[in-house]
Amino acid sequence: MKYTNCPKCGNNLEQYKCTTCDFVFYQNSKPTASALIIKDNKILLGRRSIEPSKGMWDIPGGFCNYGEHPEDAVKREALEETSLIVEPKEVLGIFMDEYGVDKESTLNIAYIVNIVGGEEKAGDDLEKLEWFSYDKLPSDIAFENGRQMIEAWKNKL
Ligand SMILES: [Zn+2]
Repeated sequence: MKYTNCPKCGNNLEQYKCTTCDFVFYQNSKPTASALIIKDNKILLGRRSIEPSKGMWDIPGGFCNYGEHPEDAVKREALEETSLIVEPKEVLGIFMDEYGVDKESTLNIAYIVNIVGGEEKAGDDLEKLEWFSYDKLPSDIAFENGRQMIEAWKNKL
């Protein structure tokens, strides 16, 4: 969703700048960080228990907080959703997508991560966690960027 009115005074925005109060409002894609948790060519996915894409298999991850480094976001999200402590190993790639009913533009940073601690347990937004072999992946993977990330991972094997 692209806003056309100033968040400060409500008047029209022209490009980034308000025509009335001169407030500058940058509109960028929202960054997210995803954790591809890999072990023995298997990937850990969570079945979503909430909308959007309820019931579909998802890569652990989520939106970066304001000012949060994506490496910190990926560790935080992996911990929240899987109870595992992970360490980013490499960036798999960056994938553009849209999220939710407002089709918010997202910039999705995919990390391949290592497990360094914790006991696997599904977070509140997930029905369950399951390991999938690269050749036996479920067909109902949530979000276009999630499907692209899994394709990119498989292409590296
Ligand atoms: Zn304004």
